[in-house]
Amino acid sequence: MQSIRTSKALTIVADANISHLGDYFNLQILGVDVTVIKVAGREITHELLTSVKPQALLVRSVTFVNESLLVGQDSVQYVGSATIGTDHIDQAYLNQKNIGFANASGCSKHSVAQYVLTSILTLRPQYWQKPITLGIIGLGNIGSTLAHYANDLGWQVLGYDPFLESTQRNHKNNNASFKQLLQHSDVISLHVPLTTSQQSKYPTYHLIDENALTMMKTDTLLVNSSRGKVVSEQALLAEQPDSKRQVVLDVFEHEPFISTHLLDKLAVVTPHIAGYSVEGKLRGTQMIYEAFCKHFNLPINQKIQNLLPANQYNWADLKKMPDRLVDYYNIMQDDADLRNVLNQISKQVDGKDFDELRKKYELRREWTF
Ligand code: NAD
Repeated sequence: MQSIRTSKALTIVADANISHLGDYFNLQILGVDVTVIKVAGREITHELLTSVKPQALLVRSVTFVNESLLVGQDSVQYVGSATIGTDHIDQAYLNQKNIGFANASGCSKHSVAQYVLTSILTLRPQYWQKPITLGIIGLGNIGSTLAHYANDLGWQVLGYDPFLESTQRNHKNNNASFKQLLQHSDVISLHVPLTTSQQSKYPTYHLIDENALTMMKTDTLLVNSSRGKVVSEQALLAEQPDSKRQVVLDVFEHEPFISTHLLDKLAVVTPHIAGYSVEGKLRGTQMIYEAFCKHFNLPINQKIQNLLPANQYNWADLKKMPDRLVDYYNIMQDDADLRNVLNQISKQVDGKDFDELRKKYELRREWTF
C-alpha cells in the first residue's frame, strides 16, 4: 500500500456500526485533526461522498465500494472494511485508482472456532473425554484455528483444503480427501467461502448435498458456520425423520428466512452470530485502524488491550471444569431466542426478525487460548 505523509486534517466517512470508532479515530490518538462522519452503511452513497469529500472510507459488508460509489470524485485515498469478507469491494477498481485498501481478515477466527466447539460439546459432552475425529473442510483462518483447539483436546483432525496443496504441502491438518473426511468423521465443520463453478475449480455451492450426506456416518454431527448455500437445504430436509444425524446451522441457504421444516430438523440454530464477540469486533477495527495509520504515515498509538475489559474466560480453566461451558457460552439461549421468533402464520422465521436478533445481539467474550 502506498504511504502518504499527512499533517493536514482528515475527514472520514464511516459506517456507524463499526465498533469503537471514537477510540481509534480522534485527534489525541491520530495526532491530526479528524472529522468522522458516522452514517448507516446503506447511507454511504455517491452523493454523500461527493458533498463531504472524505480522504478515508470505513465500511462493513453492507456498503458496496465500486465504480458507481466512487466515480468522478478523487478525495478518497483509503478504504477500510472491518469485515473478513471482501465480496462487497471492487479491489481491482481501487487498485486502478491507487486507493489503499485493508480488510479485517481473520478478526473473528477464535470467536467462530469457539462457537463450533461450544455447539459440539453442548450437544455431545462425552466428547470432552473421547478422542473423536473432527473433519474440517477449509483450513484458512477459522478452520486452522479450530484445528488447534481440536489437537489440544486430543481429537484427531481430518482436514480437506485443495487450495493449500501446492503452497503448503506439509500443512499438518491437510491430510484427507473429501471422501475420506466424509466417511470417517464423527463431526464435520465447514469453513469455506461460497464459490460457484464459474469462480472456482473446487466450488463450494452445495458442497454438502444428498451424496455427501449419504457418505457420512448416520450419526455424524454437521456444523455449518460458513455460508448458507454451502449446504443444500433440500438435502437436509430429505433426510429420514428417524436419522440420528444432528445438524447445527448459523447460516442458511435462504437466509434471512428459515422455514419451520428446517428448524424442526436442527439440533442448534443461531442467527449468523458465530463471529459476534467483543474481541472479534474490536480486532476488526484495530486492523483497519493500523492500515489507515500506515497509509497516512501516522503513528499507531491505540492497542486493543487498552480497550478490552478484563476477561475471566480462559481455555485452560474450561478444560479443567467442562461443566462451566454454559457460563462461557450458553449457545442454547441463542437457539431458543431464534426459535421464539418463529412466525406461526407464515411458518418461518421472517427476515426482519432474523436481522433484529443480530442487531440486538449481546456480544460474547472470547475465551483466551
Ligand atoms: P479463509 O479465506 O481464511 O479460509 C477459507 C479456506 O477455504 C481457504 O483456505 C480456502 O483454500 C478453502 N477452500 C476454498 N474452497 C474450498 C473447497 N472447495 N474445499 C475445501 N476448502 C476450500 O476464510 P475464513 O476467515 O476462515 O472464513 C471461512 C468462512 O467462514 C467464510 O465463508 C466466511 O464468510 C465465514 N464466516 C462466518 C462467520 C459467522 O459469523 N458465521 C464469521 C466469520 C466468517
